[in-house]
Amino acid sequence: MPPFANAGRVLGCASNFMAQSIIDPSRLEKIEFSNDEIARYSRHLIMPEVTLAGQRRLKAASILCIGAGGLGSPIALYLAAAGIGRMGLVDGDTVDFSNLQRQILHGTKDVGRKKLNSARDRIREVNPNVQVELHDTMFRSENAMEIAADYDIVIDGTDNFPTRYLSNDVCVLLKKPNVYGSIFRFDGQCTVFAPHLSGPCYRCMFPEPPPPGMVPSCAEGGVLGVLPGIIGVMQAIEAVKLIMGIGEPLIGRLVSFDALKMKFREFKLRRDPKCPVCGENPTITELIDYDQFCGIPQAAAAEAAEAPVPEMTVHELKQKLDAKEKFVLVDVREPYEYDIARIPGAKLIPLGELPSRMSELDTADDIVLHCKMGGRSARALRLLQEAGFSKLTNVAGGIEAWAEEIDPSVPRY
Ligand SMILES: [Zn+2]
Repeated sequence: MPPFANAGRVLGCASNFMAQSIIDPSRLEKIEFSNDEIARYSRHLIMPEVTLAGQRRLKAASILCIGAGGLGSPIALYLAAAGIGRMGLVDGDTVDFSNLQRQILHGTKDVGRKKLNSARDRIREVNPNVQVELHDTMFRSENAMEIAADYDIVIDGTDNFPTRYLSNDVCVLLKKPNVYGSIFRFDGQCTVFAPHLSGPCYRCMFPEPPPPGMVPSCAEGGVLGVLPGIIGVMQAIEAVKLIMGIGEPLIGRLVSFDALKMKFREFKLRRDPKCPVCGENPTITELIDYDQFCGIPQAAAAEAAEAPVPEMTVHELKQKLDAKEKFVLVDVREPYEYDIARIPGAKLIPLGELPSRMSELDTADDIVLHCKMGGRSARALRLLQEAGFSKLTNVAGGIEAWAEEIDPSVPRY
């Protein structure tokens, strides 16, 4: 997420939202606690702002957490410990080693398991009183309304634009608060979208998605492992406040956090009366195709329409190296990636430096290019083609494929 793109909307005064629980009092009558639960929640019960009445609201409440990853981990763990009654999790992924640096719902032994299964086991360990519901699927237009309808609050723990617009529109249409969080590298943001409680929605801030590929994901740009701990916990706190009806909810305000400076900043957000989904004359009255809206099929088609680059497999590269053929292997990744893993004999020229370092290469040479997965090296190949090089080949799958198929001792990152 870019730091707050729509600066024009960072104006005005947020209304003063009265603290009022979103849980209807009629749902509290049949909520009871065992003695064990009373002991478990005692630090809540002795606070005059919470008491048994607040704890009863928590137990009556349900939240839907979209994503059981970086943000979903602290959200689910803390809300379970706090005594939320029912928790739904939506995720279709399995646990990967690269998740463990921040996704504390999952442990080393869970690598390869469904994220939902390891999340369920961990939540049960934290608090067996919580009713956990698993939605083993991606959150999509076809299923989103049906899944979300059954919960009081939606908490967005996803990291892609189609799902972000989808969860926004679902919540606006169903009149449910959407507790928003996003993280990237060392920065994070949190707010609560709730037009039905007079706040703005995500589209009031960002009516249009950024062009595909413009905003890198955490998988591409990295994320500090501890950061989702802060932002996810802020999301969990906002959910608790909405349920208990205490404090000032983060409606109409966005908190942005910079871990390197250890600074929080607050922006006022206001509703856009022309918002396509929550405005006075909405044009979006039902869910749309969010991949289409975010330009993902168009971007894929545009990429496919470009002339294919000449490719070789990692096996062909291995044969070439073993046969000691004369060629130049160029690695276009960054130096810190080269430090982690490299293919023997590769010359490092990061993609960004290639235009100014082309003189280090000879058009007469047979040049083989690689990167991590094959995308950056394909771009490098086109740059070199434009500069008059012709004997060029891209290594399909990059060093990832090399580590998987040729040399398992090469670390994957
Ligand atoms: Zn809106």
